[in-house]
Parts: sequence; C-alpha cells; structure tokens
Amino acid sequence: MEKYIFVTGGVVSSLGKGIAAASIGKLLEARGLTTTIIKCDPYINVDPGTMSPFQHGEVYVTDDGAEADLDLGHYERFTNAHISKDSNITTGKVYYNVITKERRGDYLGKTVQIIPHITDEIKRGIKKVSHDEEVDVTIVEIGGTVGDIESLPFLEAIRQLRWELGEHYALNIHVTLLPYIKSAGEQKTKPTQHSVGRLREIGITPDILLCRTEKHISKEQRDKIALFCNVDREAVIEAGDVKYIYEVPLSFKKEGLDDLILKKLNIKKEDKDLNNWRDLVVNRLKNPEKEVKVCVVGKYIALQDAYKSIYEALVHGGIANNARVNIIRVDSEDLEKGNGDKHLQGAKGILIPGGFGDRGIEGKIKAVQYAREQKIPFFGICLGMQVAAIEFARNVCSLKGANSTEFDKQAKNPVIALLEEQKRVKNLGASMRLGAYPCKLSKHSLSFKAYKKENISERHRHRYEFNNEYKNPFEKKGMNFVGINTQKGLVEIIELKNHPWFVACQFHPEFKSKPDQAHPLFRDFIAAALGH
Ligand code: GLN
Repeated sequence: MEKYIFVTGGVVSSLGKGIAAASIGKLLEARGLTTTIIKCDPYINVDPGTMSPFQHGEVYVTDDGAEADLDLGHYERFTNAHISKDSNITTGKVYYNVITKERRGDYLGKTVQIIPHITDEIKRGIKKVSHDEEVDVTIVEIGGTVGDIESLPFLEAIRQLRWELGEHYALNIHVTLLPYIKSAGEQKTKPTQHSVGRLREIGITPDILLCRTEKHISKEQRDKIALFCNVDREAVIEAGDVKYIYEVPLSFKKEGLDDLILKKLNIKKEDKDLNNWRDLVVNRLKNPEKEVKVCVVGKYIALQDAYKSIYEALVHGGIANNARVNIIRVDSEDLEKGNGDKHLQGAKGILIPGGFGDRGIEGKIKAVQYAREQKIPFFGICLGMQVAAIEFARNVCSLKGANSTEFDKQAKNPVIALLEEQKRVKNLGASMRLGAYPCKLSKHSLSFKAYKKENISERHRHRYEFNNEYKNPFEKKGMNFVGINTQKGLVEIIELKNHPWFVACQFHPEFKSKPDQAHPLFRDFIAAALGH
C-alpha cells in the first residue's frame, strides 16, 4: 500500500516548502525508496500558464506538456521522480472536473458541494498519481499558508486521507517559522504554536515540524515547541538558513529527518549517507576552482523566481566546470536606452532566456549583436533564439524590417512567425507547442559535441517558429541550422559559424538540468565562457 507525506506551511509564505519537500524526496531516494511529488495550488487558474511572472514566477514545463508550478522544477532537480501533468493539482482544475461531471449528469439528484465533491476530487487526484507512478512514498505539498480561505478544501482532503490511511501510512509535516527578534535577542515560538493550533482546529495534527530559523534552536526551545505543539521532541527539526539550496538535504539529514520519517512510516531501509551529493554538488559550490561572469538579459530580472530554472541550470553548468558562475542580471529595457557596452562589458557569456511580448525586445536584439560582434559565447533560449534570428536577419542578411509577427504583425520580413495550426488558436490556455518533442542534430555542430548523440528530446513552450523561407539567406551568411524537428520540419537549434560558441535553441533545456547532471548545453556554454 502506498504511503504519503503531506507538507503544509504556516506563519508566512516563502519558507521554502517546495525545497523542503524536494529535499525530503532526496533523502528518501538516498535510502532506496521511490518517490513522487504533487503540488496542490489553491488558486482558481486551471494552471499557471496564463499568469504573469510577476504573479507566479517561472512557469515550469513537464515532458507531457503541462504548464506547472515551479516547485515541480525543484523536485525534478533534487530527485529522479517522474513528474507529469497530474503532479500539479489546482483549485481551478478540481472545480473544472467537478463542474464537467455535474454537467454530464454524474451527480444526478445530488447537491454538489465542497464537501464531499470537491474534497473527493482532490483525493482522487492525489491517489491517481500515487497509483500511476507506483512509488513507495508520495509527497503532497499544499501551497499557501495555513489560515488561508482558499486552501481549506485541500487541508480537509488531506485530513480525510490521513484518517483513512491511518498511522504508518501517512504523515503530516508542517513547515513553520521561528522568527528571531533582534532587539530582544530572542527566538520566538509563539507564531509556530499559533500555526499548529490553527491546523489542529481543522483536525490536522502535525507529526513533524520543520522549523525555519536563522539561529540554532536550544534544547529548552525544542522542549517548549514539542510540549505546546504536541509533537515528539525528536520531531522538532531545525531547518536553518543555508547558503545554497542544495545543502538543505544535508542539513535535514544531520537532524535525523530521514530516520524519523522512516520510523513514523514504519519502513525499514539501510542507512545511507549523502556523500556523493555532498562531494559532487555542495563542496563544488562552496569551493570552486574558477569563477566566470555571465550576463542574463531579460525583462523580469528584478524578480527572484521568473527565470528560476535558467539560474539553476547556470549554477549546474558551473558545478560541472568546477566554477562559480556570477550571474549579472541585465534589464533588456536598459539596453534599449544606451549601447550594450556599459551593461555587458566584461561578460564572458551572454544568455537570453524565454519571454513573451515586445517589451525590451530591441534591447535583447542589441545584446545579441554585442555577443555576435565581440565574439562572446552566446546562449539563446526560446525567445532568445527568436531574437538571435531577428538580429541576424537585420544586421547580417540586411533584411529590412525583419521581426517576429508576435511583435509586428505586418513585418516586412517575418523571420519568426506562426504556423497555420497556431493561427487558428482562440483560447490562450494550454494551446502553445508544449512539452517534449524530438530533435535531430547534425554531426558537425557544437550541440552534437555537447549531447554526444544525434537524437534528443527537449521541452517546449512557445507559439512562434522560425520561418523556413529564410533558411537559405541565413545559411549563405553563416548561420547553421543544426537541430531540426524532422516530423514537422521545424528549426530547433541555430549556430553561428566563425564564432567561438553561439548556440540558440527553440526549446527550454533549463528544465532538464540537475545539479549533479548539468544539461550538456549549459555545461558547454559555461566551458566556453571560461575559455573566453
Ligand atoms: N514568445 C515566443 C513564442 O511564443 C517565445 C516563447 C518563449 O520564449 N517561451 O513563440
């Protein structure tokens, strides 16, 4: 029978619940268990696909083409779990399913209500993932903070599940905060007590508390938390601040969290250390041999989470090259005002990530020109590839008014344009080219050198494509088309000749990079930057 761990959060948001859940997965995998994760998001959007990065941060994409919460990205980076469209359950999806069933007549005669219909639908979604994945332990993270109105149906659903499954089959872990009041010189337990009280009011008793804190927890404080929150002393886990997120599994391990979970779930597995992870990831992050400065040019650089997977993949590229990557975030709109020199000077590599809309586009085009002319290693991703194509069309092929029809519908030279099938799309939700598609590499390319194989598969999230009518003039001027989706004849990767490293791809390689297995393109981009 499957076992479950439910992770909730209290006091404030941004406690790192997603990283905590991913780290628990990592610890359990190290002990030889298979795991998967589900992220429950209480908002009414069906998925985050139509939300702005200002609202939601990065939209993560799974192999099967779901637009999902970025916490699933942490999960894929920390573990080997398989993540799919079912791994993200939102209020929007739950209501959508229930209302569809109601219209179909499935509930005929009944009044459809939050309890039991909505909560049953949540439970069904959770159990389905666990059944499909056939894993030992399913970790379910409930988004939001205890006390929010919108998360109540999710909390009621996990309360029922915990009751149905019984002891040893389900576990409640609550991530909470122990604020440190500087002026009083004291660490406070009251917010945690209140948060746990709030949970207990709705019938959930936490089995383990992960206490986020900047100071160590003293024995007296632990005793106090245990007593007033009604948990075992050993179940008060210190989750102290760390410099690198990849240290979190090590710090949990030090606290004995894996032993505790196994004990509470009545699972017997040999103890295993995390030395590999420590040596390959954490030690390299802490003591790199080299350093390299890379500029990321985007319009959401002020936001911490908008390019989450990009920043992580750059860090992984650094780990693979034993180098610290100093990421300089450059606002593409600033580049529009002046020339590239001021902002990009000293960059050993320039990366342009994905994006939508025309704000900052001309600045990105300037950044490409700078990288191309100064022969600085360049990595364009999705929109980054599209602007690289626009720049090349305008400045090398002299194609006047070259643009993407996303930004100029009447562009004289639409080097990036919509496919017929996309022109017919009316609904914006989940209607892009999404998820994994195959791509064939030509053998004489930087990309082949990186992947060391001809056939690859990468994740997509875009509507516009390179316009094949411009292949000839591009090739004549030295742009190679080295990655092609042969089924649809679509351009997936372009590379510039006579440049040390200029690679731009229509897909999103950042979603498949892991700290101990850097994505080959990110690894080689950083290697090229180190060589610049
Ligand atoms: N806006 C572009 C498109 O839709 C690029 C999307 C992206 O970078 N993810 O094709």
